[in-house]
Amino acid sequence: MQTKILPNTDDGIQSAGEIIKNGGLVAFPTETVYGLGANALDGKACLKIYSAIGRAADNPLIVHISEIDELDRLVECVPNKARVLAEKYWPGPLTLIMKKSDLVPNEVTCGMPTVAIRLPSHPTAKALIKSAGVPIAAPSANLSGSPSPVTAQHCVNDLTGRVEAIINGDDCECGVESTIMLMTTEPPVLLRPGFVTVEQIEEAIGKIKIDDAVLNPLGSDRKVLSPGLKYKHYSPKARVIIVEGDGFCDYVNKHAESSDLALCFEEDEQSLEVRSLCFGKATDGEAQAHNIFGYLRLADEMGAKTVFARCPDSSGVGLAVLNRLLRAAGFEKITL
Ligand code: AMP
Ligand code: MG
Repeated sequence: MQTKILPNTDDGIQSAGEIIKNGGLVAFPTETVYGLGANALDGKACLKIYSAIGRAADNPLIVHISEIDELDRLVECVPNKARVLAEKYWPGPLTLIMKKSDLVPNEVTCGMPTVAIRLPSHPTAKALIKSAGVPIAAPSANLSGSPSPVTAQHCVNDLTGRVEAIINGDDCECGVESTIMLMTTEPPVLLRPGFVTVEQIEEAIGKIKIDDAVLNPLGSDRKVLSPGLKYKHYSPKARVIIVEGDGFCDYVNKHAESSDLALCFEEDEQSLEVRSLCFGKATDGEAQAHNIFGYLRLADEMGAKTVFARCPDSSGVGLAVLNRLLRAAGFEKITL
């Protein structure tokens, strides 16, 4: 298949909207990461997403809308707390899971009775949904298992020959995927941390539960609330080891070989004797989130065998960074 690279202009977005309307796939920028979109009301179109990126058939898609009014026909009912979160944090990097309506095809939800919905703030994403005239189902646009794409070039690398088009937009602002909240239980459950933080959610709706799988490997007996949590994720080819504790630089200087790389805080850079990529200040979770996937991809391009990664602080957006790094590392973590 020929993959068109469309400019991020009104004309480019209109062509992309036509492709979606006609049952094709388009990668497009959002404020979180690039998504790979199809018409969310067309089960056959949505099925193509799974084969294009090798996505497991039981890992459901997030449905993107461009106006809050589009929510009601996609779900059976909107729980009060979901309404509060939607009004406070939409448009933005927050996905809400609710009971699905009959309009949502099973190919989107993998047969689950619930659907994940998000109203993005990115102008291109919103314009694309409007131009297509339908809600757009879109997971992150990476090949399954790889770090999520945060630049148009990452999409070109992963998707050329597999999808109809890629919109050549800017680099993504957040750099990690949306926060996912399951709203059908009481208390609601955080399934995936993101730029909308636990602190912000609790300020709006009170205490929530954080799913065990956010920071722990899944035991085989555990019931999985979000199928995506089962899969190895975000992994570069390099082995990633998270190193927790103040002795990070000494540890890396002692153990890293010349083919290895440190993913470090700005404060560490001067003390490191091995090559490094610095993903932000120790206290700057937002910068770390913005850089993490790009740097995991860059580590592979630099031929790193092992990446020794600084363990981020788990407050605020740091929880999202830690969650992604743990998966990239297959939960391999050393505490000094
Ligand atoms: P991605 O956009 O690649 O991050 O994938 C979407 C994520 O949303 C995956 O982790 C899915 O498991 C999760 N997801 C989508 N729909 C649902 C749902 N109905 N229930 C639970 N998790 C969901
Ligand atoms: Mg993904």
